[in-house]
Amino acid sequence: MLYDKIANPKTYLHSRSLAGLRRPNVRENSRSGVLAKMKYIWMNGKMLRWKEATVHVSSPVVNSGMGVFEGIRAYWSKERSQLYIFRLKEHVQRLFDSSKVHRMKIKFSKKQVEDAIVQTAARNGFREDLYIRPLVFRGGIWRMPETPIDVIVFVVPTPRPERMKRMKRGVRCCISSWRRIPDIAMPARVKTCGNYVNSRIASMEAEEAGYDGAIFLTIDGKVSEGSGANIFLVRKRTLITPGVTSDILEGITRETLLSVGARELGIDVCERDVDRTELYVADEAFLCGTGQEVTPIVSVDGIPIGKGSVGSITKKMQKWFFEVVEGKRAKHMDWLTPVYA
Ligand code: PMP
Repeated sequence: MLYDKIANPKTYLHSRSLAGLRRPNVRENSRSGVLAKMKYIWMNGKMLRWKEATVHVSSPVVNSGMGVFEGIRAYWSKERSQLYIFRLKEHVQRLFDSSKVHRMKIKFSKKQVEDAIVQTAARNGFREDLYIRPLVFRGGIWRMPETPIDVIVFVVPTPRPERMKRMKRGVRCCISSWRRIPDIAMPARVKTCGNYVNSRIASMEAEEAGYDGAIFLTIDGKVSEGSGANIFLVRKRTLITPGVTSDILEGITRETLLSVGARELGIDVCERDVDRTELYVADEAFLCGTGQEVTPIVSVDGIPIGKGSVGSITKKMQKWFFEVVEGKRAKHMDWLTPVYA
């Protein structure tokens, strides 16, 4: 049954109108597009030209995926002519937590890594939204007696109109035939490079089957999260999300919405195990994360969620989130780090 859904998505999709939303615009990623604009990468304390920041093909990171990373967004504010990095400290803390799990000692302090991130964003000179990628990895060459722990930061512009289309219309997901990596096998709660093999095979399978994205179940068959985002559902006006022992990545956006956003909006929250069929009968559902921001899910396995359109609580959460990241909620300005002096 599950495999039928993956193999014959048309039977399960009630509309194909969103088919074009899945893949990033090719031109965006072409050399003549954004790639050409990315000039500098911070590597081990030095600002290098894009081409100079390289690793050896025999290094442990290339051969065994020995690395951890972060995904951080910076939002361009037209009114203030400023680029704001969202929750920089929390992301750097998670980078250090991920490194700790990997027994990799970072030779820079958290403050130095925060500064490196701000400097890389500033040096590239973008006046638009960015995705920022710090990465800590075992570099060097094969079987070195002591592998160096390298640290890099690069930034990529992420045009807002493309993202907004997804967020306005929502996405159609399927339950993946792959299960989320359990914490007894991989450190699911942190951002280990290797974890993303699990994410990528699930999202590639979903996209090939005509969906926009995949939702993982845990080994025990409970809902875990999306392939690169946490998940919330709404039932009887309560926001529900799987807890941190459901093999989820401990998402910063999830925590922001759960602990602060919902409270400010007067929405009840509940962190608990979620069954697959609860998704089918939910009033609303959405994905959240640095990449997905707050993206409504309009169907799962072809079954419409609620009315099959973006729900009212999801809209409220989206609005609150964008007001925060764009610096329109004064009390949360301490979550934003300005890039330009
Ligand atoms: N789960 C996974 C697997 C992710 O890759 C991400 C994106 N980092 C998230 C959840 C959301 O986490 P955050 O809100 O910290 O970006």
